[in-house]
Amino acid sequence: MANQNSDEVKVPGKIALVTGAGRGIGRACALALAEAGADIALGLKNIHSDSGLIKEIEALGRKALPLQMDVSRMDEIKSAVLKAAEYFGRIDILINNAGIAPENYIENVTEADFDYTLDVNLKGTFFTSQEAGRLMIRQQFGRIINISSQAGFIALPTESVYCMTKAGISHLTKCFAVEWAKYNITVNAVAPTFIYTPGTEDYLANEETKKMVLSKIVLGRIGDPKDVANAVLFLASPAAALITGTTLMIDGGWTAS
Ligand code: NAD
Repeated sequence: MANQNSDEVKVPGKIALVTGAGRGIGRACALALAEAGADIALGLKNIHSDSGLIKEIEALGRKALPLQMDVSRMDEIKSAVLKAAEYFGRIDILINNAGIAPENYIENVTEADFDYTLDVNLKGTFFTSQEAGRLMIRQQFGRIINISSQAGFIALPTESVYCMTKAGISHLTKCFAVEWAKYNITVNAVAPTFIYTPGTEDYLANEETKKMVLSKIVLGRIGDPKDVANAVLFLASPAAALITGTTLMIDGGWTAS
């Protein structure tokens, strides 16, 4: 009998909304889902900044819809989800990827920085899930994958507010999973270690920092966005149908040691 497993890590004909899709991990997730058969709604902080992603998705034979979607703005969350639903008719998969990680020592964090980091990372994830989830409830189907971080499980100096938001994302993942299981919606998260993206470029350009990071990742390498996208695709696919409420560590063993 032929092995069917590889077919189960595909998402043919599904519609996926990816927030912060323009670069880094979001971009890799959008491409992985498109390669696996999904059409993609691209949530962009600035709708004109897709950096060629639309063309790349179309070259894979899939549709791409750019959406103005600053996740710190409730009006843009609502209008983006509405436009995606109008254009595609449904949203099957939501990837809550948009996130920021401003560095600061605890004694210097301002209220404005604190509020904005929570607005983007935590409030944005909650209300984007709520808005897309309302549609998924009507569909009686949904797959939500939140991008948490190993920083939600360990304390990284200068990243206190970020760490708190990522811990919050992993916990809200459980809350949503439990409430929405009855609607056939699964809600999971992934928690990457350091990944090479535009967002970490400056941090990892410092040789001392990079050496410290490599000393903690027991598999001995910094991640590629594809390492995260592969796990996200798995969680969005039928292969993960009985998985909900979990956070999958993609940390090369950092938090295990
Ligand atoms: P990045 O900085 O390279 O890209 C972040 C994306 O989010 C950009 O496209 C940006 O436009 C978008 N964004 C920022 N604020 C937004 C807003 N208000 N509304 C909509 N979009 C917004 O980051 P990345 O490294 O690709 O990280 C993506 C996600 O992965 C983040 O949630 C981050 O916390 C998480 N993460 C990253 C790493 C890493 O090492 N790169 C590790 C763990 C978790």
